[in-house]
Amino acid sequence: MLIHDSFCKIIATVGPASQSPDMLEKLVLAGVSVFRINFSHGTEEEVTARFAAIRALEKKYGVCLGILCDLQGPKLRVGTFKEGAVTLKEGQKFRLDMTGLPGDETRVTLPHPEIFKAMHPGLELLLNDGLIRLRVEEHSNDSALTTVTVGGVLSNHKGVNVPGVKLPISALTEKDRKDLQLAEKLGADFIGLSFVQEPEDLLELRKLMTSRADIISKIEKPSAIEHLNEIVALSDAVMVARGDLGVEVSTEMVPVLQRRIVDECRKAGKPVIIATQMLESMITNVTPTRAEASDVATAVYDGVDAVMLSGETAAGKYPVQAVQTMHSIIRTVEKDDRHRQNLMRRDKLAGDSAETAITVAAGIAARAIQTANIIVNFTDSGQTTLRTAKFRPGVRILSLTPKIATARHMALVWGVTSVVVQNLQSFEDIQTEAGRAARESGLVEPGQKIVVTAGIPFGRSGETNLLYIINA
Ligand code: PEP
Repeated sequence: MLIHDSFCKIIATVGPASQSPDMLEKLVLAGVSVFRINFSHGTEEEVTARFAAIRALEKKYGVCLGILCDLQGPKLRVGTFKEGAVTLKEGQKFRLDMTGLPGDETRVTLPHPEIFKAMHPGLELLLNDGLIRLRVEEHSNDSALTTVTVGGVLSNHKGVNVPGVKLPISALTEKDRKDLQLAEKLGADFIGLSFVQEPEDLLELRKLMTSRADIISKIEKPSAIEHLNEIVALSDAVMVARGDLGVEVSTEMVPVLQRRIVDECRKAGKPVIIATQMLESMITNVTPTRAEASDVATAVYDGVDAVMLSGETAAGKYPVQAVQTMHSIIRTVEKDDRHRQNLMRRDKLAGDSAETAITVAAGIAARAIQTANIIVNFTDSGQTTLRTAKFRPGVRILSLTPKIATARHMALVWGVTSVVVQNLQSFEDIQTEAGRAARESGLVEPGQKIVVTAGIPFGRSGETNLLYIINA
């Protein structure tokens, strides 16, 4: 059994640089727990082959790997140019329209009627990740005349952001609906919902879904921040999608919002991921900048569940080194005493549930018996394990479940290693199975004490009422 030795998990985006079975294997060995398949790129054949390769690695190494299918969402894009690209100069006029014709220096197609309807004179449009800015002068329902306020090169299909404007569009396009069907057919563990604006977006996705995949809300719009509590409550996990977020809000607000989203998720016990530009310079360099190392470390000190690599593993020159670097930053921070002290939640527990009381007690017991360096959970839905991880007990969590889907969901969660076990029937089964799994995991020596939590009788989702200390 392959056990990653970090608490904070690593998500790697699969792309041309990493989709071969050989490369995916190297990434798993370097520390990846969850692979992200970005549906903005790649064909059905490629996606299918990536699933097969990842599932084959699970078998080979006896690990549970999560697969996150990230839907593109309503990413607004310009059309094409006759020459593939144009250079826009500050002060010039530039027209956006719905003609569908290839563009030039004077105009380009913007095939999104919703934007024209939501426009007003003076509105700022950001193109190509905010590198180019246009100010709307006048507009109709299918065209707008703008002034270029920041110029630059604009090429085919570049993205358009309209910061601060809530567009009347669903978070799910026709393409997303088709991609969702494929993702569910292949057995995705997580569905990433891009450009969530309000809680209704999540309800719409849930209604469409036919599987029990977890929903990860990507927070990248100011309107999602306005509804953060409700969105966190309705999501299974949350991603701080700093790429588009940094275009939609000013750059200096990204760290402020990152902290707010992480706090909200940790309070709610929902897994939270920090994404985008974490080791960006490793797309072309074999080492990261000091600032990037510090960015990853900050996320780990903040106790996030996972940190994510995008272009670094999808299209970079050094995908394996990027994962190794991320892993060693995580491990280094996790050895720092200050990290552990920071992480433990000190919530006022009075009036809380019996489940919480057992969970907190398990962490205290594990730390009190200094040789008990794991908590073993039995869980059906994953709730008992999520609750344990919420309190960041400072020891590893071995999550035993009869359901492979639950085990894969736990691949995203802080400090958790999952093992699929047979359906247990009795209290005696728990003792035998907990001891066996703990020994086989290599996390403890035979005879060492382990702390066990479970819900008895089995099969009642969410109940945790047993705390037991046994010898492995
Ligand atoms: C982001 O915007 O940060 C992000 C993760 O989404 P995508 O990579 O799909 O743009």
